[in-house]
Amino acid sequence: MNQVRITDPFWKGKQEFVRTAVIPYQWDALNDQVPGAAPSYCIRNFKLAAEKIQGKTKIKYPIPRDKWEFLPKDSEKDSFHGFIFQDTDVYKWIEAVGYSLANHPDEKLEALADSAIELICKAQLENGYLDTLYAINDPDKVFTDLRDKHELYCFGHLCEGAIAYYHATKKRKLLDATERFADFIYDWFVKEDRKGYPGHEIAEMALMKLYEETGKDKYLTLCKYFVDHRGERPYYYDLERGEEPSKDLKYQYQQAHLPVREQKEAVGHAVRAVYLYSGMADLARVTGDEGLRLACRELFEDITRKKMYVTGAIGSTHMGEAFTSAFDLPNDMAYAETCASIGLIFFAHRMLRLSVKQEYGDVLERALYNTVLSGMAADGKSFFYVNPLEVDPDRVHGDERMNFVKTVRQKWFGCACCPPNISRLLSGLGDYLTTSGEEELFLHLLIGADMDTDFGKISVEESLFEDGGLSIQISPKKAFTFYLRVPAWVDQAQVLCGETKDSNYPNYLAFEIKEDTVLSLKFTFGPRLIQADPRVSENIGKVAVTYGPFVYCLEEADNGKHLWELAIDPSTTWKFSGNNLIANGYRLQESPTEALYSPYEKPHFQATKLTFVPYHAWGNRGEGEMRVYLSAR
Ligand SMILES: [Zn+2]
Repeated sequence: MNQVRITDPFWKGKQEFVRTAVIPYQWDALNDQVPGAAPSYCIRNFKLAAEKIQGKTKIKYPIPRDKWEFLPKDSEKDSFHGFIFQDTDVYKWIEAVGYSLANHPDEKLEALADSAIELICKAQLENGYLDTLYAINDPDKVFTDLRDKHELYCFGHLCEGAIAYYHATKKRKLLDATERFADFIYDWFVKEDRKGYPGHEIAEMALMKLYEETGKDKYLTLCKYFVDHRGERPYYYDLERGEEPSKDLKYQYQQAHLPVREQKEAVGHAVRAVYLYSGMADLARVTGDEGLRLACRELFEDITRKKMYVTGAIGSTHMGEAFTSAFDLPNDMAYAETCASIGLIFFAHRMLRLSVKQEYGDVLERALYNTVLSGMAADGKSFFYVNPLEVDPDRVHGDERMNFVKTVRQKWFGCACCPPNISRLLSGLGDYLTTSGEEELFLHLLIGADMDTDFGKISVEESLFEDGGLSIQISPKKAFTFYLRVPAWVDQAQVLCGETKDSNYPNYLAFEIKEDTVLSLKFTFGPRLIQADPRVSENIGKVAVTYGPFVYCLEEADNGKHLWELAIDPSTTWKFSGNNLIANGYRLQESPTEALYSPYEKPHFQATKLTFVPYHAWGNRGEGEMRVYLSAR
């Protein structure tokens, strides 16, 4: 594992927000101490589970099949409360803390995390099973509802948290507990050959991490077991419910409709999908499974060529938080969950580990610099779950169908998957910068960082947005080829210092590194107008503005109300004002008749200046209209 310290002021600033604002805030949220925020019950459930285990109480509570949330008003005082996957809140918190401690040691924070780990371990059953819903309500019913209950999902997050914390602190307690749970799962499924698999995926990618961390084959076997049985007929989810085996295609929502190697289209719940595909990509890389590799490739292309927003958002409908048909990408009704873009980053990074291609890095950047960053307020204290590309507060408030859209970021959510997911991703950002081969190191993200790798020390400094500059210092431990990704948004890449050699990878510059080397480059790029494929029907005649990896948008705070009246002059010159872009455009003159309908007349436009802000920064100045796409004329 590489040691990476982010030095880039922009990203370091985000990591500092996570460390100083989000992580403490999250801790309060886990403990139900954020006034006005929906309670999480997370720590409360762990305490209760620990007490129940110690007291060996025999009182059981029902765990109905169709229930995802247990509210205090309709459950007993000492039964499980909250969403069924609430354990993951503390696991994600520990993961973020782990990454943060690796960058920035902090005794107090570490002591707090140790106390949380102590509590988690007390909630583990003697046989290794660990999930507070069943530990509290009924330990005899574990793994009887794989389709809807999230025990294996919670396990996956436990695993990721435990590994990150172990790397940072070398403390094994949580990792040992995780292995005991993983061993229990292995025995339950593989040894007993029960043929089940997770309803909400993530265990697959987590098991691959656990396998690569511990070298224990059984975790690889367990991952492969879950992947191979998914989608088999008769459907496991029918069998576990005692239902008649279905003859029709079913369970698209869980990506369990077909065996994974036969899946060509991304379907169902978007977060689950990209978590599954990430696990599949890891498994394909480690086992060399060609069928699995091809499926990953096709699924990646289906998403990124047909079902992804220009902001790197995916999952366009709130119904099932899911993918819809190809090119169905509504701007104002976009669901575009922050977590789904985080999952897309996981998938893209794993595709890079499987085979190096510029487009994987481009997708990773697109999601990271836009939707994921937009998920968190500039002060790190409020969050978007849903990331539309167009917001008109009057419409949102006047239409119940748009209830899922929030016009300003929220403090916390009862179902708080996104905020802790952002904090673990940003804290662990260093892991996404590079991948490596036997004698090759690839730098995919152009982010300033100091890296201690198996190949030697590498220091990256960028001033891309000042002068297009990128400088890389390398002190090798051994000879290797250094590859640098040239993103698709770069018009021209000039090597000012350093000698390139023939590259085996298109759009990657290659350098032979044998001794201490300084590379200096200049990337030329500017604002671009981007159009969507005409099959994205609502964007015909419209453009989005991008600059480098950033997508831009218009906000009411700069451009006044009725942003739909604005159009951009495609031949505009650009002015830069801080982080904003200023362009020449037009405003449609409103009809003087004020009639809803009137005979056609050629519309009148008046010249005006347009101010664009980075999409990730929208919604930090109170409520107002926002839009990414606008007409070009
Ligand atoms: Zn989420």
